[in-house]
Amino acid sequence: MEKPIDSLSESILAGFACACPRCGKGKLFQGFFTLRQRCEVCGLDYGFADSGDGPAVFVMFLAGFIVVGAALVTEVVYKPPFWVHAVLWLPLILVVTLGPLRPMKGLMIALQYHHKAAEGRFGGERP
Ligand SMILES: [Zn+2]
Repeated sequence: MEKPIDSLSESILAGFACACPRCGKGKLFQGFFTLRQRCEVCGLDYGFADSGDGPAVFVMFLAGFIVVGAALVTEVVYKPPFWVHAVLWLPLILVVTLGPLRPMKGLMIALQYHHKAAEGRFGGERP
């Protein structure tokens, strides 16, 4: 097996590429947004990975900023009829929300793995 990822920058790159956070080679997803059980290259169990709503929250802030900003500027500068807004912003909303979701989820899982983040547990068990 090749050397595992140990630096933060490599973890971040693997995350954006939706690759396994340990080896950087295996795929993280199966289908559009479903995680695989484990890495097909190094066998890392993805059971630890629970990014929850995290990616969606970041994507919402980012997408909201972009779309609302662009819509406001367009309205103030060009004062277009309303149908122009619908034609412009509905596709843009799809692009800026669905586009970054996978890389953002990959990034959060890579960061969880890098920082060994997990749910809190009681007791003195050591990993
Ligand atoms: Zn792997």
